[in-house]
Amino acid sequence: MRHAIIADIHGNLAALTAVFDDIERRGGVDDVWCLGDVVGYGPEPSACISLLRTMPVYCIAGNHDHAASVRIDVAAFSPDAARATHWTMSRLSPGEKGYLYGLPQKLVRNNFTLVHGSPRGPLWEYLDYAGAATENLAYFETACCLVGHTHVPMVFTADAAGNCTGRHWLADNPVVPGESRLIVNPGSVGQPRDGDPRASYALYDDARGSLRLYRIGYDIRATQRKMQQLGLPERLIYRLQRGL
Ligand code: ZN
Repeated sequence: MRHAIIADIHGNLAALTAVFDDIERRGGVDDVWCLGDVVGYGPEPSACISLLRTMPVYCIAGNHDHAASVRIDVAAFSPDAARATHWTMSRLSPGEKGYLYGLPQKLVRNNFTLVHGSPRGPLWEYLDYAGAATENLAYFETACCLVGHTHVPMVFTADAAGNCTGRHWLADNPVVPGESRLIVNPGSVGQPRDGDPRASYALYDDARGSLRLYRIGYDIRATQRKMQQLGLPERLIYRLQRGL
């Protein structure tokens, strides 16, 4: 079976469409594992939910999904994120909010645990350094945990003593789960933050046993134009072209 692993779409339909087109070009997948933040920041939250739901998808909740469906408060958000969340709330239908509200915080598929932030703090914790990854090994049972939230593709590998080392995950560098316990972040579809503005996602082929990362160019200007027309915060528009 082949699985697409996507995270942090953030209402960016142009990026999500480019990723799904790329998946098709590579022969398609049996299902999609989505690690949360389908909405928030971007200009097309409803269309992203609709497109995602055309796929056989296993989706967990991100903090933005639960904020936009009023399951959690936006008090912890930055002013720009809170403004974009209020705008997103005003655009979603009751059915779309119900879908986001109902997303679980954790799922297990095959030998993978799926969460948004971390297994210890699924909605909020950022796994961006090795010490935090090491502490989180005790919070999941499977060999591999998939996370999003930082918008940076990363691989944390545990050694025999249970200490993690982390590295930026690059596209030409396949990862083989099973050799050691791993925490893997596929990067962000709709708002990458590692200095590469291209959409980021991963494919897992369980026959081959490897995870591969892909970076896909998309029409960033089209998304930025829509955000401008809708009056979304300037900083959120500008950061897309820098990938930061
Ligand atoms: Zn996010």
